[in-house]
Amino acid sequence: MVSYKELGLVNTRKMFAKAVDGGYAIPAFNFNNMEQMQAIIMAAVETKSPVILQVSKGARNYANQTLLRYMAQGAVEYAKELGCAHPEIVLHLDHGDSFETCKSCIDMGFSSVMIDGSALPYDENVALTKKVVDYAHQFDVTVEGELGVLAGVEDEVAAEESHYTKPEEVIDFSTRTGCDSLAISIGTSHGAYKFNPEQCPRDPKPGRLVPPPLAFDVLDAVMEKLPGFPIVLHGSSSVPQEYVDMINKYGGKLPDAVGIPEEQLRKAAKSAVCKINIDSDSRLAFTAAVRKVFAEKPAEFDPRKYCGPARDLMTELYKHKIINVLGSDGKAE
Ligand SMILES: [Zn+2]
Repeated sequence: MVSYKELGLVNTRKMFAKAVDGGYAIPAFNFNNMEQMQAIIMAAVETKSPVILQVSKGARNYANQTLLRYMAQGAVEYAKELGCAHPEIVLHLDHGDSFETCKSCIDMGFSSVMIDGSALPYDENVALTKKVVDYAHQFDVTVEGELGVLAGVEDEVAAEESHYTKPEEVIDFSTRTGCDSLAISIGTSHGAYKFNPEQCPRDPKPGRLVPPPLAFDVLDAVMEKLPGFPIVLHGSSSVPQEYVDMINKYGGKLPDAVGIPEEQLRKAAKSAVCKINIDSDSRLAFTAAVRKVFAEKPAEFDPRKYCGPARDLMTELYKHKIINVLGSDGKAE
C-alpha cells in the first residue's frame, strides 16, 4: 500500500472547492506515454495551473498501470525541476469500471478515482459508488461518480446514444454515495466524432458540421439542486479543425470530425463545472505533427524527430486550453 501523499500528489477536494468559487475548471488530461506527460507538465508549470493526470482503462492496457503510476510520481519531480516549488498534480483513474480496479489504483498511489456505474440501474450505481467512496475516503482519496450516459467511444467506454442526467436524481445520489464530484451528461460526447451528419446542420462555406449546443438548462437545474457541488464534464474535446485539416492534408482521413465549441466549455467552466476532460484533442495534435514530419521528411526514422514536434504541438494545445478554455492559469498556489 502506497499513499499518494508520499508521492507528492494531491487529491481533488481543495482544488475543486477553489475552482467552483473562482469560476474556472481544472484540466483533466489523459496520458499514455512520456511525450504526453511531459507536454502536460510543461504546460501546467508554465501557466501555473493545477492539473489532473488521467489514466483510462485503455491507457492501463497500453502502458501498464504500474509504469503510469511511476511516471506520475516522476511528473511531480519534473514539475519541481521546471521551477514549480509545490506542484498541484492529481493522479486520477478515468472510468473505473469495478470496485477492484478502483481499489488497486488507490492501493498503488492514485489520489483520485472515478467509478463509472452510469450504465447500471440507478440503485446499483448508488451501491457501487458508495462502496468505492467508503474505501477511498479511509485514505483521503477523492471519488468521482457519474449520472447520465454520454454518447461516443473512448477507449473501452462506448454508448450509442446519450441520456442527459436527470436533475431530480442528483441530491439523492450525492447524499447516499458521499461522492466528491459528479460527472453529468449535458450533450458532450467521447471521441473525435461527437456528432454525425444526421444530428447537425452543415455550414455551407467550409462544409463543416455545426455541433448542437450543450444542454445548459440541465446543468443549471443540477446546480440549483446541488449548489456549489463540483461538476465534471467528460468528452470535452473541441476537435480543433486546424489539426483535422493538417491530418487530412498529410494523408489522413478524418471526414466530419467535430467537437464541442470552446466558447461553450468556457461558459461551463465559469459555473460549478470544475473538471473538464480533454483527450481526443491531444491525440489529434500528436497525429497531425507526426503526419507532417512523415510527409515532409520521408527519410526521417528517429522517433525523437517526430515525437519531439508532436510533444511541442501538444504543449501548445494544453497551454491554450488552460488559458483560453478552462481559465485555470495562475491558480496553482
Ligand atoms: Zn469519459
